[in-house]
Amino acid sequence: MNDPIIQKADQVIAATYARFPIIIERGKGCTLWDTAGRQYIDFVAGIAVCNLGHSNSKLIEALIKQAEILWHVSNLYYTLPQTELAELLINKSFADRVFFANSGAEANEAAIKLARKYFQDKGENNRFRVIAMEQSFHGRTMATLSATGQPKLKLGFDPVLNGFDFVPFNDINALAAKVSSSTSAILIEPVQGEGGVRCPDSDYLKKVRKLCDETGTLLILDEIQTGMGRTGKLFGYEHFGIEPDIMTLAKALGNGLPIGAMLAKEFVAKAFGPGSHASTFGGTPLVTAAALKVLKIFDEENILEHCNDMGSYLKQELMRLKDKYDFIEDVRGMGLLLGIKMKFKARHLVQDCMEKGFLINCIQEKILRFVPPLIISKKEIDSLINCLDKIFAGLGKNQPEN
Ligand SMILES: *Cc1c(COP(=O)(O)O)cnc(C)c1O
Repeated sequence: MNDPIIQKADQVIAATYARFPIIIERGKGCTLWDTAGRQYIDFVAGIAVCNLGHSNSKLIEALIKQAEILWHVSNLYYTLPQTELAELLINKSFADRVFFANSGAEANEAAIKLARKYFQDKGENNRFRVIAMEQSFHGRTMATLSATGQPKLKLGFDPVLNGFDFVPFNDINALAAKVSSSTSAILIEPVQGEGGVRCPDSDYLKKVRKLCDETGTLLILDEIQTGMGRTGKLFGYEHFGIEPDIMTLAKALGNGLPIGAMLAKEFVAKAFGPGSHASTFGGTPLVTAAALKVLKIFDEENILEHCNDMGSYLKQELMRLKDKYDFIEDVRGMGLLLGIKMKFKARHLVQDCMEKGFLINCIQEKILRFVPPLIISKKEIDSLINCLDKIFAGLGKNQPEN
């Protein structure tokens, strides 16, 4: 691309992302506009972040109101928005206490540290291992990278941290065989997001919960992607008839403002006493005021109901495409965390969609992921399906199965 901004960016920004050559300038609802004046319907939503859409006027109002009062003070003091947000999260979940961080990885760091501290407080100093899942994703810091079950992401960063074991997702026997007297916690995404939009069997998490109860192991659910309504319930675990001991949130919690949270039951949360963990920015008035408004909008506007309606509709339409095109192997996901697995490498389809005015995302090479704002409309879904249909029709029947 010879756009001067893109050329400049490629010189000055760390090259950790293979970016698409558009410069996004503004957004409203589920639509984005680039600097060339082109318009896109957004089925990426900042990767499951902007659940209430872009430039949401209620959120702008809440943010400006707070910005005029107070942005930041240290966690040496109490603030109103942080307290209110923690109370609301607790009222809406299994948890008794919240620790605020600034990202998903940081929320998971807090969870891993809390699990260790819980057992070390009990004198069980060797009980620090965490069992995580193959193909999981938990973040890019050293501990969360170590907990991530995708070897390709660890290349070049050896040695990763000691203390993480891996078993296949959705395989209770493998998990049961791996739990030992040195296991502190089992760390799972209720639906694997980055790993390929993979749902577990409906009774898997119940069996995991039972295994944890029988062995005194903590259950940590990473709901950074599945939380905040993405799967059609406020938190993914609500689909599976269980409660975790610890849960992490981030992504959509602030609708795009950087905020993460680690929620825990009292018996384990109490291992975090004064001085045991901290974050300078964690839970600032500004981001917590925004997240508080996010949760209120969920109730005011029946976001979950809409997510379920639109999720079933999009899934049904994707199934229709699957019936029509042999090269679609599978339609998967829950709520508005949906994907289709192609029989071939599919990144070029992201480019094709972009040229037709739709942003979608490709993960694990062959899976197209759809995570639009939860306020997406039927009309916007129809236009995406129509676009995919045209692109698929143009591919013909004989796609190489590479
Ligand atoms: C995105 C994600 C993370 C990492 O969040 P960051 O804010 O990028 O650190 C961790 N776990 C899951 C399941 C995620 O989807």
